[in-house]
Amino acid sequence: MTVDVLGRPLRNLRISVTDRCNMRCRYCMPEAEYVWLPRESILTFEEIDRLAGIFVGLGVRKIRLTGGEPLLRHALPTLVRLLRRHEAVRDLALTTNGILLARSAQALREAGLRRVTVSIDTLQPERMVAFARSARHAEVLAGIHAATAAGFDSVKLNTVVIRGYNDDEVLDLLTFARDRGLEVRFIEYMDVGGATDWDQRKVVSQQEILASIAAEHGPVTELHQSGWAPAERFRLADGSTFGVIASTTAPFCRTCDRARLTADGTFLLCLYGERGLDLRELLRTGASDEEIAGRIRDTWSSRTDRGAEVRAALPDRGILHQIDSLRADPRREMHTRGG
Ligand code: SAM
Ligand code: SF4
Ligand code: SF4
Repeated sequence: MTVDVLGRPLRNLRISVTDRCNMRCRYCMPEAEYVWLPRESILTFEEIDRLAGIFVGLGVRKIRLTGGEPLLRHALPTLVRLLRRHEAVRDLALTTNGILLARSAQALREAGLRRVTVSIDTLQPERMVAFARSARHAEVLAGIHAATAAGFDSVKLNTVVIRGYNDDEVLDLLTFARDRGLEVRFIEYMDVGGATDWDQRKVVSQQEILASIAAEHGPVTELHQSGWAPAERFRLADGSTFGVIASTTAPFCRTCDRARLTADGTFLLCLYGERGLDLRELLRTGASDEEIAGRIRDTWSSRTDRGAEVRAALPDRGILHQIDSLRADPRREMHTRGG
């Protein structure tokens, strides 16, 4: 096992397969224009798979494909088929906005993908046009339907709750998920790179979300998954479950076992992290697996990152990165580092 300075294991790897997206969610990509990673810098499937094997050798047991919009990456099931061969991986999952999911859900399942999370922030198509510059709400719904039918181990929904945008839809989204036997996770609006519209006043806290659910549905029971992290999953009296992730108001970096690999092969230690290790350079200059593993191990061993906790402790919390700093280094963008 590879552990960091705070004793956190390297167990969970999020792989961004592209920095491109077919939506423009205001909390993630609000600008008119973006600096994209050069095409030749994007890792091939073979390169991703080789790195995944090295990470698995260092203790990674969960892999999630993300982006950008991962389904924009051509032939994604081919990558899934490569990754499933790493037998130590217990969990192979995907986070998607769902637009292209209906056409690939079955192929992804057959390739060996275990779990899917679909991001859906509103049930109102015109809100998605206004907030995410996309008129493809029906395709998202079709994607959720196809994923449910494809037989994944689990299909979950992710909803970022933003005051003045969709905070009046929490109960509707809860019902939508429950009616389909799905679990929805409400996520606090985070001040990550790319969220240049972020404002503390737009954050709807876990406490507030739970209070509005309890007011409608009665007592909410906490489900504790591990001894030391606070509850993120909850149960209603009817037995249905949901999640509320306090990533902004009460983050729990102490248990964070997540590493990230950007689409161009930069190994990052934290969603807010500035330091990165260029694994593409190592891959393309002929480094051996042992050399690459050694560099990853050394980097993780010196990890002290607690990005969200540090942000939460700031007296006057503002935007993390202004647009100029994002343009200077697009790896600071949430859609590049993989949310
Ligand atoms: N495009 C895919 C999607 O939207 O599911 C995958 C990438 S996206 C960056 C991954 C997740 O990050 C999504 O669930 C999205 O809602 C979340 N996200 C992006 N910006 C966020 C922010 N400012 N605060 C909280 N969550 C955010
Ligand atoms: Fe929205 Fe995901 Fe695209 Fe970001 S990467 S703009 S969250 S769909
Ligand atoms: Fe992990 Fe960084 Fe997120 Fe904290 S802010 S939970 S350390 S990725």
